[in-house]
Amino acid sequence: MKMKIAVIKGDGIGPEIVTEAMKVLDKAASVYGHEIEYRQVLMGGASIDAYGVPLTEETIAICKDSDAVLMGSIGGDTNTSPWYKLEPSKRPEAGLLGIRKALNLFANLRPAYLYKVLSDACPLKTEIAQKGFDMLIMRELTGGLYFGDRKTITENGIKKAIDTLEYTEEEIRRIAIKAFEIAGKRRKKVISVDKANVLDSSRLWRSVVNEVSKDYPDIELEHMLVDNCAMQLVKDPSQFDVVLTENMFGDILSDEASMITGSIGMLSSASLNDTKFGLYEPSHGSAPDIAGKNIANPIATILSAAMMLRYTFDLDKEADSIEKAVSDVLDEGFRTGDIYTEGTKKLSCSEMGSEIAGRIG
Ligand code: NAD
Repeated sequence: MKMKIAVIKGDGIGPEIVTEAMKVLDKAASVYGHEIEYRQVLMGGASIDAYGVPLTEETIAICKDSDAVLMGSIGGDTNTSPWYKLEPSKRPEAGLLGIRKALNLFANLRPAYLYKVLSDACPLKTEIAQKGFDMLIMRELTGGLYFGDRKTITENGIKKAIDTLEYTEEEIRRIAIKAFEIAGKRRKKVISVDKANVLDSSRLWRSVVNEVSKDYPDIELEHMLVDNCAMQLVKDPSQFDVVLTENMFGDILSDEASMITGSIGMLSSASLNDTKFGLYEPSHGSAPDIAGKNIANPIATILSAAMMLRYTFDLDKEADSIEKAVSDVLDEGFRTGDIYTEGTKKLSCSEMGSEIAGRIG
């Protein structure tokens, strides 16, 4: 297969971790007989430095003309970087919001997986951590409360703030379809999270999800109220496979799910539109405190590249081989500084990339 991938290396540790993900992708491509064309573009702080704006039309055009985008994190030290003296619409994060909008990325996927050998980093009780977990939070990204009308008015001398939570059935249907399709590639279970005992938007959510589920008879569907889900995530995270939810609930639950893995450098993510196109990036930021030192953990970005192979290119075998290589390297006791514990072997960012690439195929 020929793959056309736009690459945004980003700021801080971005260039270091993306270079390692490309090393791993190249190895997978050569082992399994694929061809990759990379097209590097700028976004975020690097784009501000080069062009005065965080996102250019050219970057958008090249991303749109690619099958997928591989991205490192963007942004700098928010206290000291000159990028944060600019008005908000010119800062690095505006580029991120702009590109998500331009590419119509409405489905955000964040896996939370606990590697057995890293279970000490899990803040939950040992007996819960030992059971392990492997879930994927699918959050609606372009609708709901964060995008509804908002205003603050004064009524009879009292200030009143109003935020609007809206969802159309189409917005719900397209993400529900994604969730069922992705569950088909995993353990075939969707837990849809809402607040249907109170909110109309949740009642519509639940009925559309039920409707969509009829087209996927082999996928088990369960509905869970968001308050219960927040509790279940810390009580028994092993019960979750795909968690489908709206924007604000997903914002909160995906952070809770990442927290229980205990290791920020391991968390991948993907944002998808209604085609096979996706933008793949680590969940963490640009870690300016360790940038340029070759000590960052590249695994989140490498796992994001594996998600790209699985979800954009349907190359499940290749994605499996990257995920297995990561698991093997950890089992053999290799660690970057952020996940290092006594008795394990500390590697640099580039050494970790090479160890993983070396185990593919
Ligand atoms: P951060 O995630 O960059 O860093 C938090 C802590 O985790 C730091 O101590 C950092 O060294 C460590 N860390 C993060 N990733 C690591 C890795 N791969 N390996 C080893 N250690 C790692 O969060 P922050 O410091 O709050 O933000 C820094 C910048 O990143 C800010 O400009 C912020 O806006 C931006 N940011 C960007 C994204 C994105 O690009 N999607 C997401 C979050 C934050």
